[in-house]
Amino acid sequence: MPRGADVVPDVDINHGLAYPLAARSAKPSPTIVTVGNITIGEGCPVVVMAGPCSVESREQTLTTARAVKALGATVLRGGAYKPSTSPYGFQGLGIEALEILAEAKAETGLPIITEVMDPRLVEMICRYADILQIGTRSMQNFDLLREVGRTQTPVCLKRGMSASLVEWLQAAEYILREGNPNVILCERGIRTFETYTRNTLDLAAVPALKTLTHLPVIVDPSQGTGRSALVAAVCRGAVAVGADGLLIEVHPHPESALKDGPQQVTPDGFAALMAELHPVADALKRGIA
Ligand code: PEP
Ligand code: MN
Repeated sequence: MPRGADVVPDVDINHGLAYPLAARSAKPSPTIVTVGNITIGEGCPVVVMAGPCSVESREQTLTTARAVKALGATVLRGGAYKPSTSPYGFQGLGIEALEILAEAKAETGLPIITEVMDPRLVEMICRYADILQIGTRSMQNFDLLREVGRTQTPVCLKRGMSASLVEWLQAAEYILREGNPNVILCERGIRTFETYTRNTLDLAAVPALKTLTHLPVIVDPSQGTGRSALVAAVCRGAVAVGADGLLIEVHPHPESALKDGPQQVTPDGFAALMAELHPVADALKRGIA
């Protein structure tokens, strides 16, 4: 089939036809993404994904994995390939980190979410990842989106830091169109004039997306605020506005983290956060997965 045949003219963008597969009208029931025995999506219990920004060592990752598991997280996060604004910044431990995550999964049973940046590494990372994370800086890496779309591994697509909701849904469309229906959207904040917070977390995007798309929506309060002291309150807000899950950075020693120290909560902080989150999830009759 000639690719031009299904090109959608720009004029249709305002009518939602720019993302025909992602549109709410495309599918009567919400998309529920299954990861092991966890379900993510509308009406499901709230899923808490937690762990370090980056895998820095075996001990750091295993300590964190045990702590978040004991406190009720059901997915372990950890960056192996890190997008770094500076080429001199920490780039991640790569394959060594993936092996550490595999060990943490084997011990705790927690499925793994980790970022993929390079389309050539998708196949390899799929052997370790239960959810592929596409970072904000890659949201419009269309070759990468097509590549993850050719797998059936769930994909957590973060919002580009300057992306509109429609642009974000069009990025999701690239993945869906290749045949992978397992897309989760993650709001992680956008660039504004405000600098007190690292990004401006757009919580209104959550209920807005619920009207625009059938896909699950989660929130990352860590990149969203850049400040660990704000993370717990934002988690409660995210669940209150309808988020299907949270992606939270937890580090045993944030002060010495190789990346994103100021926004990572300690295991104690995570315990307090979870205790405050439960009544909100319960009030919405969802609970926490
Ligand atoms: C992260 O989750 O550590 C990360 C780099 O996220 P983002 O792509 O949203 O900046
Ligand atoms: Mn981070």
